[in-house]
Amino acid sequence: MTLRLYDTYSRRLREFQPLHSSEVGIYTCGPTVYDYAHIGNLRTYVFEDILRRTLEFNSYNVRHVMNITDVGHLASDADSGEDKMEKGSRRTGKTAWEIAEFFASAFKSDMHHLNIQEPTIWCKATDHIPEQIALIQCIEAKGYTYCTSDGIYFDTSKMPDYGYLARLDIEGLQAGTRIDMGEKRHITDFALWKFSPAGQKRQMEWNSPWGIGFPGWHIECSAMSAKYLGNYFDIHCGGEDHISVHHPNEIAQTEACYGTRLANFWMHGYFLQLGEERMSKSSGEFLRLQVLIDRGIDPLAYRFFCLSAHYSSKLTFSWESLDSAARSLDRLRNQAYEWGPPSSPDDAYVKQFTEQVNDDLNMPRAMAVTWDLARSDLPASIKKATLLLFDRILGLCLADWQPPQEIIPEEILSLVDQRQKARAEKRWGDADAFRNKVIQAGYEIEDTAQGPRVKGRK
Ligand code: AMP
Ligand code: ZN
Repeated sequence: MTLRLYDTYSRRLREFQPLHSSEVGIYTCGPTVYDYAHIGNLRTYVFEDILRRTLEFNSYNVRHVMNITDVGHLASDADSGEDKMEKGSRRTGKTAWEIAEFFASAFKSDMHHLNIQEPTIWCKATDHIPEQIALIQCIEAKGYTYCTSDGIYFDTSKMPDYGYLARLDIEGLQAGTRIDMGEKRHITDFALWKFSPAGQKRQMEWNSPWGIGFPGWHIECSAMSAKYLGNYFDIHCGGEDHISVHHPNEIAQTEACYGTRLANFWMHGYFLQLGEERMSKSSGEFLRLQVLIDRGIDPLAYRFFCLSAHYSSKLTFSWESLDSAARSLDRLRNQAYEWGPPSSPDDAYVKQFTEQVNDDLNMPRAMAVTWDLARSDLPASIKKATLLLFDRILGLCLADWQPPQEIIPEEILSLVDQRQKARAEKRWGDADAFRNKVIQAGYEIEDTAQGPRVKGRK
């Protein structure tokens, strides 16, 4: 069955054809590890996980590369302001290196909670300084750079189709600009290498042919994707904010040095919103996954919530919709549990589900097929096998789930024992009195063939 994906570059749904028969290369822009990820960031990683699982479902062998930005991302994407890592270091009193380590591992733990598969290759910007310097040298040799007092810049005016991904109106941008360009020649020019400020020792800095300093933020992705996936690979992903700056810059760098367009498909996940606003790290209000967990919400309920919208539409967060996702997930889990062991999947449902996921990852419609399956009158074992197959993409861990065992307090168990004893001795009045105490404490007793079962009253 054909897989169709929306390509931001051509603004078209295109049939996916791998560039090489052996494997599909995907590069996903990873986190800047100066703080925790918020659940908005995590929505983008859930979308990318669904993409990867869909490719695997279609029997492709996927090589997935994700970077960790641990240097060079400045407070403003316009290459000004402080390095986010050094700023984080001042805020917390830890070194920039310690912060990078700490937040990278917090990010991996969030991924694990959301059942997001780890990339085939993790790569850190600070581990690839020589590759970034070599790429800048190549861009310089081809005549696309200039030097200012604070760094080496990419001259975007030398690239006729610069910004095509974003359909940027460069003349309009230039005319409307009010921001301080410093010594930049054009508003869209960006730093490839920044010099350490004179008289100031940065925690993260390296020697280079141009002087001591650190790489600009964009160069790491071009350098590391080329190293692990080649100059031109299948799919490049990120959040929608990357359409206008980061990704056009990656494309320009790669095109300048290698003459290739970097990726065959460009895919972007749209924002999680809080009300009218995008959830963001810099604008204060952001929710970490841990906040949800602390409220007793299963992190997979957040994954389920993400499946309720197409990745290319905005999704507005609210506690009510998250609670409703949690209840639906519980319903699905309980049903799947009650269906018992799986036999073999139902071909017609598998076909319907595949059609939806292969139609540009239409998860809301794939979920509708899932509920149709649950309501169908197919034998339970077939429903279970079909659902577990779907779960290879849904990633809701439905195979392992078991109803939670309720912890009943000792004094309630003792009352139940005393009631049993009274019943055995035919002291019916006492037995009723014990039962009433159990009920008053908020529990109920169900007498089953295996003996009494106690549970909390909802
Ligand atoms: P950062 O760690 O800030 O570099 O962002 C990591 C990823 O999350 C990037 O791909 C961003 O585009 C994406 N992102 C940032 N904010 C949101 C949001 N509110 N909703 C979805 N994705 C986002
Ligand atoms: Zn990137």
